[in-house]
Amino acid sequence: MFRALVINDNEAEGYHCRLQDVDESQLPPGNVTVDIDYSTLNYKDALAISGKAPIIRSFPMVPGVDFAGTVSASDDATFAPGDKVILTGWGVGERHWGGLAQRACVEAGWLVKQPDNLSARQAMIIGTAGFTAMLCINALEKQGITPASGSIVVSGASGGVGGVAVSLLARLGYQVSAVTGRPQERDYLLQLGAAEIIDRSELDKPGKPLQKARWAAAIDTVGSHTLANLCASVMHGGAVAACGNAQGMDFPASVAPFILRGITLTGVDSVTVPQAQRQHVWQQLAGLVDDALLESLSDECTLDEAVDRAHQLMAGEIRGRLVVKCR
Ligand code: NDP
Repeated sequence: MFRALVINDNEAEGYHCRLQDVDESQLPPGNVTVDIDYSTLNYKDALAISGKAPIIRSFPMVPGVDFAGTVSASDDATFAPGDKVILTGWGVGERHWGGLAQRACVEAGWLVKQPDNLSARQAMIIGTAGFTAMLCINALEKQGITPASGSIVVSGASGGVGGVAVSLLARLGYQVSAVTGRPQERDYLLQLGAAEIIDRSELDKPGKPLQKARWAAAIDTVGSHTLANLCASVMHGGAVAACGNAQGMDFPASVAPFILRGITLTGVDSVTVPQAQRQHVWQQLAGLVDDALLESLSDECTLDEAVDRAHQLMAGEIRGRLVVKCR
C-alpha cells in the first residue's frame, strides 16, 4: 500500500480530492516504478485538485504533474533500481496517475535523470514551473535576445513560473522588471534579482494597440489583456514568450506590434518536450541555481496539507514554489 491524493467525481460526493491508502496493484501500466520523495503544487495541480478547470480526464486520478524520486523497479534498460529521476509533464497527473503520491508507475521515455548536483527536493522546487521558465528564456534567446538587448519584463512574478524566471534572468545578467499584483512581495522580488517592480494594474486592463516601447522582451504567465499589453510594449524586433493563462485564456490584441515593430510571439509548452531537450534544460537549470536561491523562493508542505494548500494557491496566497514532501 502507498499513500496518494485521489480525485474522484461521483453522484454521492461530487468532485472531490482526498488523501488515501492505495493498493500497489491499482498503479497504472508503465515500465518504471518510482518511489516518490517530493512533488510540487503547480497552478495546474491546484486547478485539478479544486476542480476549477477540467484538467482531469478520467477517474479515479492521482494529481501532480511533477515528481522526483528513486527507481524501485524497471523493465527498461535506461533506468535501474536506485536511479534518481525527475518527471514533469507528459499528461501525468492529468491522464495518467501523477506525483502527489508515494509511488508512481510511468513510461521510461517520460523520465529524466536527476542532475548530480540537484537533490530531489531541489529538483521539485524547480519543477514544471522552473522548467517552463527556462524554456521561455531559451525561446527568447532563440529570437536573438541577449542582456545587451534591454530589460525583460516578467508577469505573475510572485507565482512559481514568474519567480523562477525573474531569478534565472537575473543570474544570466538580464535587467528584469517584475509585474505583480502583490505589493507586499516587493522585497522578495528585489531579492530574487528584479530591478524594477511594476503593479499588475498597469497592464491587466484593455490598452492601446501600440504603447511606449519599454522592454526588449517579455515572459508572460497570465495571458489576456496583460499579454496583449506586453506585446504592445516591447521594442522593435523584440520577443514575447507566452506560457500561462492565470488572468485568462483570451488574447485581446491587435496586429500592430507585429507589423509595425516586427515583434515575435513565441508559445511555450512544457508538457511534450522531447527527452533529449529535457535533459539539456535540466542541466542548464542545475548550473544556474543554488541552494540559497531555491530556498528563498520556496516553501514546503506534506501530502496531508496539499489539498488545503492547493486552495490557497488558487486564491493567490502562495508565493513562489511549494514543494510537497511525499514520504
Ligand atoms: P502560480 O499560481 O504560482 O502563479 C500565477 C501568478 O499569476 C500569480 O502568483 C499572480 O502573480 C498572477 N496572477 C494570478 N491571477 C492573476 C490575474 N487575474 N491577473 C494577472 N495576474 C494574475 O502559477 P504557476 O506559476 O504555476 O503558473 C503560471 C501560469 O503558467 C499558469 O497559467 C499555468 O497554467 C501556466 N503554466 C504553463 C506551462 C506551460 O507548459 N505552458 C507550464 C507551467 C505553468 P502576482 O501575484 O505576482 O501578480
